[in-house]
Amino acid sequence: MIPAAPHPIQPRRWQQAWREAIRDPHELLAALGLETLASRVPDTAATGFALRVPRGFVARMRHGDPDDPLLRQVLPLDAELRPAPGFELDAVGDAAARAGRGLICKYRGRALLVATGSCAINCRYCFRRHFPYAEETAAAAGWREAVDAIAADTGIDEVILSGGDPLSLATSKLAELTDALAGIAHLRRLRIHTRLPVVLPERVDDEFVSWLVGLPWPVTVVIHANHAREFDADVDAAMARLRAAGATLLNQAVLLRGVNDSVDALADLCERGFEAGVLPYYLHQLDRVAGAAHFEVDEARALALHAALRVRLSGYLVPRLVREVAGDASKRPLQG
Ligand SMILES: *Cc1c(COP(=O)(O)O)cnc(C)c1O
Ligand code: SF4
Repeated sequence: MIPAAPHPIQPRRWQQAWREAIRDPHELLAALGLETLASRVPDTAATGFALRVPRGFVARMRHGDPDDPLLRQVLPLDAELRPAPGFELDAVGDAAARAGRGLICKYRGRALLVATGSCAINCRYCFRRHFPYAEETAAAAGWREAVDAIAADTGIDEVILSGGDPLSLATSKLAELTDALAGIAHLRRLRIHTRLPVVLPERVDDEFVSWLVGLPWPVTVVIHANHAREFDADVDAAMARLRAAGATLLNQAVLLRGVNDSVDALADLCERGFEAGVLPYYLHQLDRVAGAAHFEVDEARALALHAALRVRLSGYLVPRLVREVAGDASKRPLQG
């Protein structure tokens, strides 16, 4: 018999889509017929946070609309460079809550793993845009430091994979972590905070679904979508696959000026997510991170929008409006 020739290693389809993301603001503007905006777009070297957006997400933007809510989330604008008092590098006190390499323990029972610094998309309002990822990712050194710290603390019953985006890692890398965690008797739940099923739905492939199905804990996937138009047929299919694998699906959104700061936009988001099988979880007040001041919605307006949303929607479709305050024992609810 002739032995089979070794297969060249094929990149996964999602990894290919990942690599093909648009990184040049001028290419993005040209794809949308918005070349005239170029003068408002700074050199991203100046902002210290590159543009990055998958082509599938760009396809959901409206051609020729400079105010498109999806575009606004990713396009660097010169407004980022304006100094804004009170907007800081570590807006949420992550540095103070560090419990080991890439491990943040702020709230009772929950250990949040900064699995990786990578993301398929760079959201301009990202509260971790200045996080020192190079030293602080849990996946480095084979997860050992993080796994040991979780094993040593019997008060931890839930591990949250976060980032960056934990689904940036190969499924084999995630399996390496969950294999190590599976031996820890006090863990009862696993949670994954990820935007990838929305911005790069290809990521929810067969290999990923098999990993999910095989996990020994109930799994919650908290996705991140800020606008109804982030959902399309591919995202619906990814959500259906996650649900079929047994995951509970929740959405956290950030209240963003010019993106979703109207009752209609928020109601559409909650209803559209529900059609995809996702319940609203949190609506976050923006973390006051340097470079994001132009996205802020002041608290009085946030409360008014939320109050109107409660009147408009079924109770289970209303997300909790919260702000993260460094030193608090939970997210702080804002209620009018
Ligand atoms: C938001 C957050 C959590 C999760 O909080 P929940 O209210 O349970 O969703 C856990 N750890 C850290 C560090 C967080 O920032
Ligand atoms: S997906 Fe989340 S972590 Fe990644 S850039 Fe956007 S807000 Fe930041």
